[in-house]
Parts: sequence; C-alpha cells; structure tokens
Amino acid sequence: MWHDDNDDIMKLYNLLEEHEINDPLPAVCPVCGSKSGHIYLHRYDDEHHGGSWVWCSNCHSYNHASFKVPEWWRNLSIVSILQLEHSPEYLESHAELIDGFVNKLLAIHGDKLLKETPCDHICEKCGTLMIKELPDDRVGTYGIICPNCGWGAVTTYTDPICTDQTLYSIVLLKGNEPSTEIIRAVNKVSHRNLLKSKQLIESAPQVIYEGDALEVHGMKEILDAESVLYKIEPDYPYD
Ligand SMILES: [Zn+2]
Ligand SMILES: [Zn+2]
Repeated sequence: MWHDDNDDIMKLYNLLEEHEINDPLPAVCPVCGSKSGHIYLHRYDDEHHGGSWVWCSNCHSYNHASFKVPEWWRNLSIVSILQLEHSPEYLESHAELIDGFVNKLLAIHGDKLLKETPCDHICEKCGTLMIKELPDDRVGTYGIICPNCGWGAVTTYTDPICTDQTLYSIVLLKGNEPSTEIIRAVNKVSHRNLLKSKQLIESAPQVIYEGDALEVHGMKEILDAESVLYKIEPDYPYD
C-alpha cells in the first residue's frame, strides 16, 4: 500500500526550515494536495544519527532516509526503535499524536531562532542596521527598532509554552529517597501535607500534579532542584 516512488513527498522536509506558520501539521501533501502530510524524525544515538519519515495518509506516498537529526529534536516516547520500519505504517497509526508533538517542537525551535538570530533588517529611513527588542517575559511586544532614527515596528509576542492547550500530568516515579528535601519538594508540587507527600513517595508511581504547560514548568523546576525522579505525560517538550 505504501509507495516511495514519488520524490515530491520530500518537499515535506521543508517544514523543518519554515518557522512562520503555527501548527503546520498535518500539512498539504505535495503529491495529492490533501491536508494529510506528516513528518517524524527519530534519533538513534548521541551523535544525532537517526531516521526520517515523511508520508501522506491519503495517497500513501512516503520517503524514509537516514537523517542527521537536529539537536533541538526530541523523540516521542511512544515510538521505540523496535517499532520503526521502512514504511510509515506504525507512525501512521499515531499520526494525530505525532502531528501535535511535532507542531510543538517546531514552535519551540522557531521561538529559539527568533530570540537567537541577530536582526538583519536595515532601516528604510536611514539605512542603519536595526535591533530586536524582545519582551522580558513570556508574553509582550516584540519590536524591530532603528537605534539611529528610532523608526521601527512592533508586533505581539507569545512564548509557545503559553499557547499549549495540553493537560500534562507529573508522575512521581519509584526510587525516590524519602529525605526531608525530597518530601518538601513533592509537597510543594502535590499541595498535600508532609505526611501525605511521604506516602506518595513510598507508594509511587503516583500522579502528583496536573496542569497546563506553564504551570508544569514551574513544578518541574521545584522537582529538578532536588533531583526528584518523575516523568511528565504526555511528552513534555519544554526545557
Ligand atoms: Zn498525498
Ligand atoms: Zn533609521
């Protein structure tokens, strides 16, 4: 059913370089025009060797190749190397989940580029190289300003973590020592009392928190400070 004889499907790899569009997946298939195009990369080792798949759920065109997976990529935890094969059959069965996750990765990467890339706009009034002014916080205005004549433009800015609608769960894992520091950290996150928090540690795995991406980020910092063993479900793509 899957066929890899039409190279046009490889145009879907361009999604990795385009950062202007929010939630580009599922993408328009370059072969049949249906909005059924997907992309997934999987890193196999620390050297970023990996594989890539682009495919269309509608016309079943696909491409699979060896791929140098970019540093910012994260594997999806439901995909293990054992399930991956040349055809995208397994990936297709999780296409919606994959699209949602890859859309988040692309948004985070685009945001990082926006922050890190120096401004290359030249002021149209006086010819001076303009500068970027990014908001200090996660939401605000993003401006390109001429340091010489003050000409410029501003637009609204929102960190991708603020627009993520997913409800995440923090699951405390087995193996945490019930030390005072760890009990306190778990207590801050679980909003129980110290005795109950100690019980949560002893009876792990236990869900200790549910919230949106930004809320979970705050809780993650508390747990990471004490090296608490936990995981976040579904896959949490923010550092
Ligand atoms: Zn197609
Ligand atoms: Zn100027």
